[in-house]
Amino acid sequence: MIFNREWDSSLGVRLPIVAPLPDLLWGHLDPKARDLFIELLAAMRADKMPITPTEMFRFPQRQLYLFAKGRVLPGARVTNCDGYKLLSNHQGTGEPGTGRAVDFIFTKPGLATARIPRYYPPTGNTPETDAIEWVTLGKRAKELGLEWGGYWRDKGGRWTPDRPHVELPKVPDGDAG
Ligand SMILES: [Zn+2]
Repeated sequence: MIFNREWDSSLGVRLPIVAPLPDLLWGHLDPKARDLFIELLAAMRADKMPITPTEMFRFPQRQLYLFAKGRVLPGARVTNCDGYKLLSNHQGTGEPGTGRAVDFIFTKPGLATARIPRYYPPTGNTPETDAIEWVTLGKRAKELGLEWGGYWRDKGGRWTPDRPHVELPKVPDGDAG
């Protein structure tokens, strides 16, 4: 593998120069989460707002690559999890088969072509004024006990939506009795 030395000093780890591709294997998700995501796909299809996954389980290399965006790579920051010290819910415990988050994109309904158009619907200034597709995604996720990233706020209460993101929240330790 080729490594970009420039990135070494900034993050204290070696990043591959070639972006690690998303892992789209359903088997790498937590089984309970996987079943709920499949139900979510069906619910959105029934609402004529079909979605398809773009990110599922992440190996640490992919998570670190995304962490580097807006830090040592161009673009906006997309995550605060570096994949090694701080794991995202896409990584679960770090082992394949434990992923708890999926990112989605919308596809145009009723077009059974090989090249399915994908799109992000328009966004608003509050979760409620986003396009109906986003509002519906949040609603259907909630009905299944999933959490939609479109509602997220930072510690200061500022709305920091991650609209494509849906996750099965972790049960806090000690609550599983
Ligand atoms: Zn995500």
